[in-house]
Amino acid sequence: MTLQEIRGLIRDVPDFPQAGIVFKDITPLLADPKGFASTIEQLAQRVGDYQADAILAIESRGFIFGSALAHHMGLPFHLVRKQGKLPREAFSMAYELEYGVDHLEVHRDAIAPNHRYLIVDDVIATGGTAEAVAKLVTQQGATVAAFAFLIELAFLNGREKLSAYPIESLIAY
Ligand code: AMP
Repeated sequence: MTLQEIRGLIRDVPDFPQAGIVFKDITPLLADPKGFASTIEQLAQRVGDYQADAILAIESRGFIFGSALAHHMGLPFHLVRKQGKLPREAFSMAYELEYGVDHLEVHRDAIAPNHRYLIVDDVIATGGTAEAVAKLVTQQGATVAAFAFLIELAFLNGREKLSAYPIESLIAY
């Protein structure tokens, strides 16, 4: 499937979850087996050269693409979750929301110093979420191999926050 066809399976939902936001709805893509498979194959091709040791995926839609990618590439898969969800000892990193601050967490034994991590999410918007995960990785002496996103909202310039790292996105708006 071409990127143009994959793009055709992503729906714009205006004013969700609040006025002024155009939400990128990936559920039609997930409901299309050829579209979903092709998305994972193309993401895997893009990130194959970064020599990642493991994938870190960001709650919650990042889990969908990150786990499929980990399966496809034969890589270990780790969860980056919102605060309070992980059952064992975790590292925590604050990040700014539009109103206030939240925390992302990862199990301590998921981050090995000197390992290279591919960080995966569905959408990069402002880049704040992805930047927090990069800090979680680098503060433990590990390396961000690259970021992979299905969708990049380029007009929000999220790349600028992640300029120290390679970024792959399949579809830009
Ligand atoms: P940000 O930290 O601003 O880059 O936001 C990224 C996170 O918010 C990702 O986990 C996305 O799933 C979600 N997100 C932000 N904007 C949108 C959007 N327009 N459509 C769908 N998801 C979005």
